[in-house]
Amino acid sequence: MTTQTSSMPIPGHIDPVPVPRPITEREDGRIDILGLPKKQIASLFEDAGLDKKQAKLRAKQVYHWIYHRGVSDFEAMTDIAKTMRPWLAERFVIARPEIVEAQHSSDGTRKWLLRTADKHDYEMVFIPDADRGTLCVSSQVGCTLNCRFCHTGTMRLVRNLTPGEIVGQVMLARDALGEWPKGRMDELGDESESDYTADGRLLTNIVMMGMGEPLYNFDNVRDALGIVMDGDGLALSKRRITLSTSGVVPMMERCGQEIGVNLAVSLHAVSKEVRDEIVPINRKYGLEELLQACADYPGASNARRITFEYVMLREKNDSDEDAHELVRLLKKYKLPAKVNLIPFNPWPGAAYECSTPERIRAFSDIVFEGGISAPVRTPRGRDIDAACGQLKTAAEKKSRAELDRIAAEKQAQLEAE
Ligand code: SAH
Ligand code: SF4
Repeated sequence: MTTQTSSMPIPGHIDPVPVPRPITEREDGRIDILGLPKKQIASLFEDAGLDKKQAKLRAKQVYHWIYHRGVSDFEAMTDIAKTMRPWLAERFVIARPEIVEAQHSSDGTRKWLLRTADKHDYEMVFIPDADRGTLCVSSQVGCTLNCRFCHTGTMRLVRNLTPGEIVGQVMLARDALGEWPKGRMDELGDESESDYTADGRLLTNIVMMGMGEPLYNFDNVRDALGIVMDGDGLALSKRRITLSTSGVVPMMERCGQEIGVNLAVSLHAVSKEVRDEIVPINRKYGLEELLQACADYPGASNARRITFEYVMLREKNDSDEDAHELVRLLKKYKLPAKVNLIPFNPWPGAAYECSTPERIRAFSDIVFEGGISAPVRTPRGRDIDAACGQLKTAAEKKSRAELDRIAAEKQAQLEAE
């Protein structure tokens, strides 16, 4: 298992990653408008035969129904003329990702196995807490990277998710949690502000921490989060959204400028030797380069700190010296930082073990004494394989022969470099 994950080539931001057309073609010929910006919906309506003014007005109405009401059936859009509704339904569709399986953990965590229209599986996870509810969203089916402690990293990258498939996860979660405003469905503009604030809602936060490396699918993640943050869209504040990267340095500045959400960085090690081994993208973008990019991250401040994720691996990265070095590095770059210590979540065939609770406590204390907050994250949803790094679709899990073939391919590619 370990050899197969250590041999994958490390792509840079310009390396090819399969990018589907933003609009996935459907067998029935209709166009799925979920995840498209309002302007693009208007131009599709125009292409279908509406005049410019009509197209713009209808796009505005439809967009409102989709994102403020959660409606996916044109027939329910009561402010659109009765004759217009079947006309729209013949040509367009507001789809949701297909749910293959929904699981519920004993701690309240929920995991959904989803399927794209072209039959690729991916996962999303909802983690309820006393004061918030966090949806963990995937950006890719699989991952090109192969961090050695991560189960998703043992999958081949199948493809990037489209904006519709990314926004679709949030829509599905709201459907499942029953969080669309109810009543008075026949008028626009009748809702009060409080319908759209986070107060009283279960789903309050989004983390791009599911399957995949979001900065290797930059455009689609940006466009999807654009709709999530749009006041006419899902209207979630950028302060409630966090994007986690393994360290795709050349895309970090654009992430701050064009997306503007909170940043989390999968640091996991403080020396070149160890980080090269466990987060192999480090061989391409090294530690110092990564920390400099964090120092330059637009919008980071003491009020909006960068989260450094650190998975606790027994006798690999968990010594007192590692903790002191972590403090030294974060201070050297004057980073407004908080550290999130993640106990390693095991999966079948993993080459590592979790640090002992005493070791994790000692590590956390040293970082705290260095003046940096370092809480230990409680693992959630372990019983349904929903915890950090456990995501991997069932289809992939079954196919041992296929995995061996991928491992051989990756090895050959590495040797050819
Ligand atoms: N690809 C992005 C987003 C994934 S976020 C990234 O790597 O940042 C999920 C977080 O969980 C990352 O910090 C990841 O490194 C961490 N993780 C992966 N596998 C894990 C495991 N088995 N146990 C604990 N954390 C893990
Ligand atoms: Fe990919 Fe993130 Fe897993 Fe690394 S930790 S393999 S970047 S999903």
